[in-house]
Amino acid sequence: MTRRTKILATLGPATDKPGVLESILEAGVNVVRINFSHGSEQEHLGRVEAVREWAQVNNTYVGILMDLQGPKIRIASFKNGIKIELNNGDHFALDADQDALLGNQDSVGIAYKTLPQEVKSGNVLILDDGKIVLEVTSIVGNKINTLVKQGGTLSDKKGINLRGGGLSANALTEKDKKDIFTAAKAKADYVALSFPISGDDVRETKALLVQAGCEAGVISKIERAEALKEETILDIINESAGIMVARGDLGVEIGDAQLPAQQKRLIKLARSNDRIVITATQMLESMIENPIPTRAEVFDVANAVLDGTDAVMLSAETAAGAYPKNAVLTMAEVCAEAEKNPIAKISHHRLDESFKKIDETIAMSAMYAANHINASAVVALTQTGKTTLWMSRISSNISIYAMSDSVQTLRKVTLYRGVYPCGIVKNTGDEWSDVNQKVVDALTKNGAVKDKDLVVLTKGMYKDESGGTNTMKILRVGDTGY
Ligand code: PGA
Ligand code: MN
Repeated sequence: MTRRTKILATLGPATDKPGVLESILEAGVNVVRINFSHGSEQEHLGRVEAVREWAQVNNTYVGILMDLQGPKIRIASFKNGIKIELNNGDHFALDADQDALLGNQDSVGIAYKTLPQEVKSGNVLILDDGKIVLEVTSIVGNKINTLVKQGGTLSDKKGINLRGGGLSANALTEKDKKDIFTAAKAKADYVALSFPISGDDVRETKALLVQAGCEAGVISKIERAEALKEETILDIINESAGIMVARGDLGVEIGDAQLPAQQKRLIKLARSNDRIVITATQMLESMIENPIPTRAEVFDVANAVLDGTDAVMLSAETAAGAYPKNAVLTMAEVCAEAEKNPIAKISHHRLDESFKKIDETIAMSAMYAANHINASAVVALTQTGKTTLWMSRISSNISIYAMSDSVQTLRKVTLYRGVYPCGIVKNTGDEWSDVNQKVVDALTKNGAVKDKDLVVLTKGMYKDESGGTNTMKILRVGDTGY
C-alpha cells in the first residue's frame, strides 16, 4: 500500500457505461460520491448496489458518500431552451414574477423567490460558477435590474451566487429531507451537507439522519462566505464528521484569489480538531476532455496532499468526462509522489497538548512509538474507527490498519488518510482470542509486513465496547507467543 491520500470519485452517466465503474474502482477509488443534484432515487440506489457488489467480489471496502443538493440558487429557463449572449454593458434582469420557461434576451425567471428582497443596489451576482458577473442597479418589485459587468453565454438553470455571501436560504431543502431517506436506504457511509452556514444546520441534519435511521457521518461542504467566520467554522467542524473544501461555490462567493489560503486554513482546522477533510472541485478539470492533465492541475492535487487533505475529489472528471479511468490513475500517481516529500511525514500535531481520554492517549502513544521504533505497521482493533482517526491526524508514512468486524467501520475509514480497512473475524466468547496472532497473520497475508518487521498494536480489554482501547503492544513478526 503506497498511497495514503484517498480518492473520492463522483458517479454519473460516464461511469454507468459498461465496465467504467469497475475500471475506476480498480484504478484506486476509495470512496464514491453519489450526487443528489442529478438523477433519480432508482439510479442512485442502482449505483450504490453496483459499487457494493464490486467491493464484495474484490474482497475490499469502498465508502459511499451521498451529496445533498442543498439550496443551490438558479435562474429559471429560456424560451425553447435557447442560449443568450450577454455583452458587457448590457442591461439584464432577474425577475421572480417571470414565467419559468420564458426567459429572453432582457430577463429570466428565478426559482428562489425571495432573492429580490435579499439583494440591494451595488451587490454583485455571479452566474454559472463565475462565468458571468452582474451588478445590481435597482430592485423594482420582484425584479432585480442589473448591468452586465462580465458577459458570456447564458443558458437554462445556471447557478447564482452573491459575492460576499449573505443569502438566507436554509441549508436543508424539502428535497434534501427526502433524499436523507434514500441515503438511509442505501446505508450511506457519509452524507454531504451543502451550503451550511452554522453548526445549527449540521445539528438539524444529524437529527434528521437519526429519524431516518441513517448512521452516516455528516460532511459539511464549506461553500458559503458566512461559514468561514472563526466561531462558525469551529462550530461546523466540531458538529461534523468532516468538511469538504468546496472550492466551486466557495470560490465564487469569496473570489478565487482567496481560495488557496482558505484551503490551507480549513485543512489545518479540520485536522487539528480531529476531523476529516476533503479537497474538491476542478482538481483535474481539463481531464473532462483530455487524457492528460495540465501541469497546474498536477500541482494543485500535489499541494492539497502537502496541505494535509484526507481525500481529493473528482467531480465531472469521472461523472461525465471522457477519461474517468485516466483521471483516477493520474490522481493516484500524483498523490503517491507528493507523499514522498519529507514535509508529508513530519508532524507537530498536539505536541503541547494534554489528552482527555485513555483511548486517545493510547492512539497518540502508538503513533509516537511506531515512528520512533520504525515500525512497519500500526494496527488498531477498533469498534468505531475512532482510534484510527486520531492516529491518522498525525502525519506519518507508516500504514495504519483499522481491524474490525464491523463492515460499517471498515467502510467509514476508507476516507481517512493513511488508514486501511482490514476485516477480521472474532471467535465467539467474551474476548478476542489469539488476537495478536490473527493480526500478524492478516498483515502477512496481505503483504503489509514480513518476517522480523515490527507492528504496533492497540486494543481494548473487552470486545464490542467502543472507547475501550487501553492497551498498546509491540509485536515482532515471526516471534512466538505474542
Ligand atoms: P458541488 O459542490 O459540486 O455540489 O457544487 C462542490 C463545490 O461547490 O465545490
Ligand atoms: Mn457546491
